[in-house]
Order: sequence, then C-alpha cells, then structure tokens
Amino acid sequence: MLPVVAIVGRPNVGKSTLFNRLLGQRKAIVEDVPGVTRDRNYARVDRFDRPFMLIDTGGFEPASEDRLLTQMREQSQLAIEEADIILLVFDGREGLTPSDEEVAAMLRRVEKPVLFLVNKIDGDSQELALGEFYSLGLDDLLPISSAHGRGVGELIDRLHQLM
Ligand code: GDP
Ligand code: MG
Repeated sequence: MLPVVAIVGRPNVGKSTLFNRLLGQRKAIVEDVPGVTRDRNYARVDRFDRPFMLIDTGGFEPASEDRLLTQMREQSQLAIEEADIILLVFDGREGLTPSDEEVAAMLRRVEKPVLFLVNKIDGDSQELALGEFYSLGLDDLLPISSAHGRGVGELIDRLHQLM
C-alpha cells in the first residue's frame, strides 16, 4: 500500500496548484475562479524517491463563513480518514483567517502527521507574511510557492521523512 497524502485548505489557497506541482503535470483544474475543484482528485506520484498517492480536495466557494467551516470540517474529516499524512495549506497573501485557525486546531489534535504549508511565498519579500502564521505555534510550518516551486524540494524531503 502506498502512503496517502491529502491536501486540504480553504478554497483558492492553491491546493490544486500544489497537486499539479507535485504530480509534475497539469491534471487538477486550477482556476482564477476560487474553489473550482468540486470533488476529489487522486493521483499516484512516482517521480520522487518514494511513490505516494496524492489527494486534492475541492469544494465550492461558500456563501458564508459558516458554510465554509462546515465544508472544511468535512474535507478535513475525510483527509483524516483516508490519508496517512495531511498537508494543510494556508494562503500567505491573504493571511490567516478564522477558518484557517479552526481547521489548524482541529488537525493538530489528530494522531496523523500534519504539515502546515504557507503557500504563495513566491520570493523573499513575501517571507514577512509568515509572522502571523508562526503565531499559531505550529512546529511544522513550511513556506512554499506552488506556482513557482519554491520550498517544494524541502516539502518532499519532509514527506519522505514521514513515510
Ligand atoms: P485551490 O482552490 O486551493 O485548489 O487553489 P488553486 O490551485 O485553484 O489556485 C487558486 C489561485 O491561486 C490561482 O489563481 C493560482 O494561480 C493561485 N496560486 C496558487 N499557488 C500560488 C503561488 O504559489 N503563488 C501565487 N502567487 N499564486 C498562486
Ligand atoms: Mg482546487
């Protein structure tokens, strides 16, 4: 059985972009329209030392913060059930939101390894945005740029350590 890695996070944080980046090809639909991946996307990633299954979770852009929370709880629950390793993605450009905090709190109680990724850190100047995420007090916080590949090698190393 291959280890299963699930990507979760709010709509538009860059989950599908990360999925495609790890896959090394374009498969998940990435749109400027937020929340385009409606369902789940599964792919086998075997271009690194150790193969794994990757799940991209989707969701619509909910009308309210309440709906968003419900959706994220369901998405995270699913990842908790199906995955061996969970990647929770934050948006380093938008900053930390209440639903991010809630899901981070939910996932840090889980027995499975969780890596917390701050995406859209495309260059050094965006590193400043990390400060508020460190306030969550998470051990495994990693800045990445799914669009440009920054930090993704480090992410792969961390994944391999957990497999
Ligand atoms: P999802 O809803 O979480 O799957 O997010 P998507 O992967 O569809 O991306 C949402 C938007 O964020 C798209 O416009 C992406 O091009 C953009 N995006 C994703 N990753 C990055 C990144 O690393 N840097 C920047 N600047 N934009 C990104
Ligand atoms: Mg998506």
